[in-house]
Amino acid sequence: VRPNSDEARDIAYHFHSYTNAEAHEKIGPLIIESGEGIHVTDSNGNRYIEGMSGLWSVAVGFNEQRLVDVASRQMQKLPYYHNFSHRSHGPAIDLAEKLIEIAPVPMSKVFYTNSGSEANDTIVKMVWYRSNALGKPEKKKIISRLRGYHGVTVAAASMTGLPYNHKSFDLPMEGILHTTCPHYWREGQDGESEEAFASRCAQDIDDMIQSEGPETVAAFIAEPVMGAGGVVVPPATYWEKIQAVLAKYDILLIADEVICGFGRTGNMFGSTTFDIKPDILTMSKQITSSYFPFSAFMINDRVYQPIADESGRIGVLGHGYTGGGHPVGAAVALENIKIIEERDLVANAAERGAELQAGLTDLTSHPLVGEARGIGLIGALELIAPEGKSGDFAPGKLGAQMNAIMLRNGLISRNMTDAMAFCPPLIVGANDVREIIQITKKSLEELAADING
Ligand code: PLP
Repeated sequence: VRPNSDEARDIAYHFHSYTNAEAHEKIGPLIIESGEGIHVTDSNGNRYIEGMSGLWSVAVGFNEQRLVDVASRQMQKLPYYHNFSHRSHGPAIDLAEKLIEIAPVPMSKVFYTNSGSEANDTIVKMVWYRSNALGKPEKKKIISRLRGYHGVTVAAASMTGLPYNHKSFDLPMEGILHTTCPHYWREGQDGESEEAFASRCAQDIDDMIQSEGPETVAAFIAEPVMGAGGVVVPPATYWEKIQAVLAKYDILLIADEVICGFGRTGNMFGSTTFDIKPDILTMSKQITSSYFPFSAFMINDRVYQPIADESGRIGVLGHGYTGGGHPVGAAVALENIKIIEERDLVANAAERGAELQAGLTDLTSHPLVGEARGIGLIGALELIAPEGKSGDFAPGKLGAQMNAIMLRNGLISRNMTDAMAFCPPLIVGANDVREIIQITKKSLEELAADING
């Protein structure tokens, strides 16, 4: 690393998220300078397919001029306003109306936040507020799932079911419980069918509710397809069985659509793909293609009405963010959704998604691949050590090695332990999908050669 280079200054001053500080000093940063379509280019001129859409989030690609123009126009007209104390502005109103129109189930209201974490943290507060309003102050516990990902603020990190989000942070906080991860390949027992596994997952939740006391459990939160926890598509019949348990105990269902929302699974929302009927639905990332930090959640009448009644009684709803519903973010979100609709990117996600999933499935013939999984334009390849050698590979070692090889071969993926994730922009073409599969295949061969050599 040259002194005073961007790399050196990054190491000196920039505190990175999700990064091992010691390793960062050795490896240095990958500095991305520009983007075009599904590609990004680094500061050394290397071009990559952004196979992760950044962080599962750039639906329309990396140089969508319409989003630049709409942001610029909004900046000139009204660069900022808020929604405290009855204030409003056009973009927030238009977007709220649009979100209610495209919602997968009837919804009443949209609340604006700035990130996925903040939306989920706010939802926890709203759920508590509602229980108090209903005169059920003991009904506050929230069930989430092991390996689920809901963000990193205090309540959201508590709901996240991954060890490194809890360790050394004194989390999870009290009242947040974690149930079985619905990953059949990993958690299914010998001779257990997918449907039987789904029944067991539902029974685990039922048992947890019974042992905690049904009157103490307020909500269940889950991603339609788990993203950061390893791309886990639920087993057949999972969602119908889970929803039956929640209905039995009057427990709210929160669908965290931060990754699945806006086309990723081949429908506008993952809730449609899996016939999920949420009371609360979290949105972020692809809502603006991440051109602007933005998030929101929708709630139905069952959630909204008690909250509205209570805030009427006590005078005000004591919650809101300076940047919530930001006019530039709202304008970008509206234009982004318009582009997704006009270019039929949801259908493209379904069609290219089928090709991507078929390509990943073909790669399961490779001895280093244990499972291919996914739906629409989100997928993963689970790497496994060569037979008899699992002791030589600590969890994540193969994944990190594969990540580096794929990067060298021009494809950005992300290893979640040993699962390589695939989540390209929704504008991806058939040739791009073929290239993604070809690079992955070549990278697997190089990984095998490295291991065996
Ligand atoms: N929920 C889900 C499903 C996510 O995937 C993420 C981020 O990856 C979040 C919430 C948190 O969003 P943010 O990073 O914007 O706080």
